[in-house]
Amino acid sequence: MSRVAVVTGAGRGIGACIALRLAAEGMPVAALDLDRDAATAIADRIASTGGRAIAVEADVNDPDAARAATDRVAEALGPPAVLVNNAGAVRDNALFLMSPGDWDLVLGVNLRGTFLMTQAVVDHMAKAGSGRVVNLSSVAALGNPGQANYSAAKAGIEGLTKTLALELGPLNITVNAVAPGYIATDMTAALAARARQTVAEHQAQAAAGIALRRVGRPEEIAAVVAFLAGEQASFVSGQVIQVAGGPVC
Ligand code: NAP
Repeated sequence: MSRVAVVTGAGRGIGACIALRLAAEGMPVAALDLDRDAATAIADRIASTGGRAIAVEADVNDPDAARAATDRVAEALGPPAVLVNNAGAVRDNALFLMSPGDWDLVLGVNLRGTFLMTQAVVDHMAKAGSGRVVNLSSVAALGNPGQANYSAAKAGIEGLTKTLALELGPLNITVNAVAPGYIATDMTAALAARARQTVAEHQAQAAAGIALRRVGRPEEIAAVVAFLAGEQASFVSGQVIQVAGGPVC
């Protein structure tokens, strides 16, 4: 039987690419997003190439929505065997200017959303006797000025990943994280706008500090997620894999 994958934040960017990649590997995919139309567009793209997919509108930061979304996936496609916690949000600012609302939103979507979705999905994995959870962290977990909220959320995701790998390992569930560097998406385009730079200027500046002297593509993250979700990674758990064009420390 094909393993069903849930990808959060699948409406665009890295999440959309992950959903398409897992579908190309033969997995039925639930494309979950806040934006129903964006999720539907991805599910339709998968269906148009012969894959199975559904769109699920949900806020990962809402416990009831996370449970309801998971139930809907199980009913429509079967019990989820792979969960990719990709939904993310940024609200950058210097500490002095960061509002409690922006702190809560970023911690809520990135960290609490990862916790809530994992808690909802893991029941199905435990019953099935296996599962794969892949969390999207960031090299910003190591510290990045202007991103106190985001850095704290992503560092939290890395601690959560290691702890859940220990807790869920006996249930044959692996939990890993991918920590991207600069990847060209709407998220980094928004950072360019905030820095009053064009996307090209912002990317060129970022590329100068990357060993490979270029920024990354969403497909390059999807490839590593697919590896961690696949059979070949069966003995890899509790790891954070940087995908950043060079080491970041
Ligand atoms: P993106 O282009 O901003 O896409 C994020 C997606 O998450 C959007 O589809 C968004 O939906 C969805 N989303 C936001 N809040 C949500 C919520 N509460 N519930 C469900 N879905 C929600 O971001 P990206 O660049 O593809 O990044 C994907 C992941 O990689 C994030 O976790 C990000 O932190 C991480 N990452 C990205 C980079 C990078 O350079 N791009 C680097 C390191 C890590 P809407 O469209 O409705 O807002």
